[in-house]
Amino acid sequence: MTPHTPPPRKLTILGATGTIGINTLDVVARHPERFQVVALTGQNQIDKLAEQCRRFQPRYAVVLDPGKGRELEILLAGTSTRVLVGVAALEQVASLPEVDSVMAAIVGAAGLRPALAAARAGKRVLLANKETLVMAGRFFMEAVREHGATLLPIDSEHNAVFQSLPAGYRGNPAGHGVRRILLTASGGPFRTRALETLKDVTPEEAVAHPNWVMGKKISVDSASMMNKGLEVIEAHWLFDAAPERIEVVIHPQSIIHSMVEYLDGSVLAQLSNPDMRTPIAHSLAYPERVEAGVPWLELAKIGQLTFEAPDFARFPCLRLAYQALAVGGAAPAILNAANEEAVAAFLERRIPYLGIAATLEATLGRLSGLPAGSLEDLMAADGEARRTARELMTA
Ligand code: NDP
Ligand code: MG
Repeated sequence: MTPHTPPPRKLTILGATGTIGINTLDVVARHPERFQVVALTGQNQIDKLAEQCRRFQPRYAVVLDPGKGRELEILLAGTSTRVLVGVAALEQVASLPEVDSVMAAIVGAAGLRPALAAARAGKRVLLANKETLVMAGRFFMEAVREHGATLLPIDSEHNAVFQSLPAGYRGNPAGHGVRRILLTASGGPFRTRALETLKDVTPEEAVAHPNWVMGKKISVDSASMMNKGLEVIEAHWLFDAAPERIEVVIHPQSIIHSMVEYLDGSVLAQLSNPDMRTPIAHSLAYPERVEAGVPWLELAKIGQLTFEAPDFARFPCLRLAYQALAVGGAAPAILNAANEEAVAAFLERRIPYLGIAATLEATLGRLSGLPAGSLEDLMAADGEARRTARELMTA
């Protein structure tokens, strides 16, 4: 190490065994002098977590279930990694004094509490878990401000917007000459499929994304465009942008990851190959830049970048997300929870693909007025939405 090399950034990776977690470790491994792993967490994939621990030698490894914790202890016998168990341990490793950056990459509502713990501890929060902002955007953003945390978006669209906004942007788009945020969407595997055949979509077809390799839940969300709907809500909170300032444009090649339009007519975009290691490396090293292992973009080979308006009849989940954002309060948390239940049911073949949007619409219709004055209210709305969605799906 030369005298000018800064000490390594110390990292906790929540959801290390998932696609974002694995990509994060891939970037970390390319820069051992810059990044050091302090804690890794997983849920079911104990063998993979053990292998990651042997390679990166974190001080802590966390799982939820005590039985899995014992399995992991056996696999890690003789190493210096301590196994911790339970939700409180997730919050603990997200707020350790020696950690400066926390990658929040647990999937779903389960990611909220640990991400919030990282924000409250004033960490650099690398936020992949968009559900945190959809469920509790107001409270999470308050925690970031109050505790001086630094929020860096990992979701490729929001990372692109972050990179295309003026340096030091702190909300209030109009004050920065920003007219609109343009979120790009690939349109997923069903963009051109005949509408009358959508009723026959299988889980295998829905998780086969044309451009990205992702976890199952977000892959189904991409097929239904619920993912883009969640991202509209995410952008609203991250960038303090009213819904009418956030527009979705379909861009099937997934090269432009999103854009910011300014009042003078300029549109700034961020482009890269569709590989999550780009936004991950951007946020890990921010404000510096490091190699991410992503192939260089060869525009002449790509040839064409095309754009379309989204079709709300084909993608009712996108319409429902705008609707939930307009209603505000607990509606986005209800939408998110009902969606998690509906996607799980679809993946288990308990409901058809079109049943996802139908379940969300019916759940929102029943529950939109639930209180949202506190985090506890939102957790209660989440629980109520799950119960209602399950009931509707078995009716
Ligand atoms: P995966 O399903 O691949 O990984 C999820 C991770 O969370 C795994 O480590 C899993 O452990 C762990 N996990 C699952 N459930 C729980 C739980 N209840 N408590 C604690 N840990 C849990 O998801 P992705 O990596 O694809 O996505 C992670 C997050 O990032 C999501 O919020 C997603 O929306 C967001 N995101 C993902 C993108 C992508 O390209 N994949 C792009 C943009 C955002 P295990 O596997 O050991 O069971
Ligand atoms: Mg995204």
